[in-house]
Amino acid sequence: MPVRRLTRGLRFQLTASYGLFFTLLLLAVGITFRNQAIGIINDQITEGLKQDWAAVKGYFKIEKTDEGYTSHWYYDPEDIDENAIVSRLRTLYLVTDENGKQMEISPSYEDQFGTDSLSYIRQVLKSPEPILRQVTGKDGRPYMIRSGYVYSEMLHGETHPRKFYVAIGRSIFNSRKLQQRITWLTWGVIPLGTIAGFLLGWYNAGRALTPVLEVARTAQRISGSNLSMRIPVRGAHDELDYLIATFNQMIARLESSFTQMRQFSIDVSHELRTPITIIRGQLEVALFTAQTTEQYRDAIVSSLQDIERLSQIVRALLLLSQAETGQVVLQKAPLDLAAVVKDITEQFEIPAEGAEVKLSLSGADEPLLMEADRVQIERMLSNLLSNAMKFTPAGGEVRVRLSRLEGEAELVVEDTGVGIPADHLPHIFDRFYRVSSPSASASPEKGLGLGLSFVAWIAKAHGGTVDVQSEPGKGTRFMIRLPMGTTDDPGTQRNVVATVG
Ligand code: ADP
Repeated sequence: MPVRRLTRGLRFQLTASYGLFFTLLLLAVGITFRNQAIGIINDQITEGLKQDWAAVKGYFKIEKTDEGYTSHWYYDPEDIDENAIVSRLRTLYLVTDENGKQMEISPSYEDQFGTDSLSYIRQVLKSPEPILRQVTGKDGRPYMIRSGYVYSEMLHGETHPRKFYVAIGRSIFNSRKLQQRITWLTWGVIPLGTIAGFLLGWYNAGRALTPVLEVARTAQRISGSNLSMRIPVRGAHDELDYLIATFNQMIARLESSFTQMRQFSIDVSHELRTPITIIRGQLEVALFTAQTTEQYRDAIVSSLQDIERLSQIVRALLLLSQAETGQVVLQKAPLDLAAVVKDITEQFEIPAEGAEVKLSLSGADEPLLMEADRVQIERMLSNLLSNAMKFTPAGGEVRVRLSRLEGEAELVVEDTGVGIPADHLPHIFDRFYRVSSPSASASPEKGLGLGLSFVAWIAKAHGGTVDVQSEPGKGTRFMIRLPMGTTDDPGTQRNVVATVG
């Protein structure tokens, strides 16, 4: 994988953010921990020396005797605690007078530092607070020394106590070693933790993204010829399963559209082939067998009839395709649905009489105002009525009923004709679908199978619905519901006219 692609990849980005976050967290926690630990150790050293100093003041006294000033440790050698404290204090200590003259010194103090310089002693004696300093002994190890002064006891009526320099110390070698270890540990753990964080991030991101890659690979294999393929759901009920399910639903929809398209192409070729074959046959027969002008004329007339049927199919198909792809814009205008229904029904009165079918209309006396495309509404009703007439034998009845429901207009076209078998009902709105049952074949003229497709589109385009109920041998009922909108009120209607105009 090229570097650029790698760095743009989701896995890389997830790893980078995860690793970066982990590193920052480690740095913050590590540095805080180290500083806290070192601070605590330093505090312990200072506090220890402070206590030692207090103990010196308690147990150590300088008195003036006849031989001059002498120092004494006052404690009970029998008392284990006091003994231990004084022994520790006396491990590393130095006492001098104000001129730097050594009065007491422990062997270790002498070994490690010799005696303190006079200038330093004077500086300490002037300082109101004891001075704490770190020094390196001759053994190369670090020590912490606390230097200050004590006053001589005022015995025998003395009025001016004298200052004496006292230094006590402790080895801080172990504490410094501990601090060093903590520092090394911190600086060692952070890079190791960072590397581990990045590796873990890379592994986790890879694990999380593997199913996505699988989905992508499966999706790549899906093409127009194997749309029945589905990506298996993992059963984890997570976001990815949801994505897969959505993807599968999309493929299912695509599959259904593809199947419809294929079926449609087959149907169209079939529909067009039949009249073309007939025309060809008629013309060939005429060419080879016709002798008189009359025979030629007959052949041309019947060919023209078939050509008319062909162009009818093409026109209807074109219109339906345009309608379904949204290229036909409804010319909506306020109209009186009752008047339109009355008009169209009247046009069918003469054919009904001829076919000996009783045609009746109800509910169209009161105006029913709504906003709709007049041409399309007329087409819808004509298609329903011509079907009803076509499939109703002589002596039967066709009823048109208009009613007003809440916010909707309902138009019912029912007949007492041949009916539609239940298994065909779900398909009758499909293009070119015709029922091929013996009862239906009783119909006198062969339709295009496009009429109900138009009905369905027109109802839908107006925001309405179409329903059908049918019982073979008894009849069929089509129910159209159209929303009336606000144009029911004549006042509003004028407003709409104004807006439209
Ligand atoms: P056609 O041009 O064949 O009428 P349609 O799309 O209008 O095409 O109708 C599709 C099929 O539905 C018809 O071929 C017919 O079999 C059936 N059909 C439609 N209306 C009726 C009806 N009123 N009674 C019985 N069958 C009907």
